[in-house]
Amino acid sequence: MYCPFCRHPDSRVVDSRVADDGSAIRRRRQCPQCERRFTTVETTSLTVIKRSGIGEPFSRGKVINGVRKACQGRPVTEDDLALLAQEVEESIRAAGSAEIEAHEVGLAILGPLQKLDKIAYLRFASVYQAFESLDDFEHAIALLRHEAELKAADSAVDGARA
Ligand SMILES: [Zn+2]
Repeated sequence: MYCPFCRHPDSRVVDSRVADDGSAIRRRRQCPQCERRFTTVETTSLTVIKRSGIGEPFSRGKVINGVRKACQGRPVTEDDLALLAQEVEESIRAAGSAEIEAHEVGLAILGPLQKLDKIAYLRFASVYQAFESLDDFEHAIALLRHEAELKAADSAVDGARA
């Protein structure tokens, strides 16, 4: 990182701040030679490839808009949605690729949404996974029940241990 004033090839970081949406890091730097300060912004881009093949920057807002309809009438707050979008972004970024296909974003939404609200999850999954019949719903509900039973069994074991 060259100093923009004297072109000194080194600089010292005096402060780092992550942008609100987590997509960029602002660093205040100081040049050891001329001692002037400057700011750099480092972004890690995450591109979503749509079905049409066109890429667009990942957006938490789009994730929220995508699940908002499924959450209508459910006890889900704006904070819940913001947190869900953050979780989705973190899990996608943790996978480490700079590009992701749109359907993978949908997949990344399913887990956190299931934890947040089962009904919203079923609605979202029915559209996203193109449920075609009641059987598809029954299958998804059976899976949810199975997971709930496993969880109940787990906590029963924990309870017995305690
Ligand atoms: Zn300098």
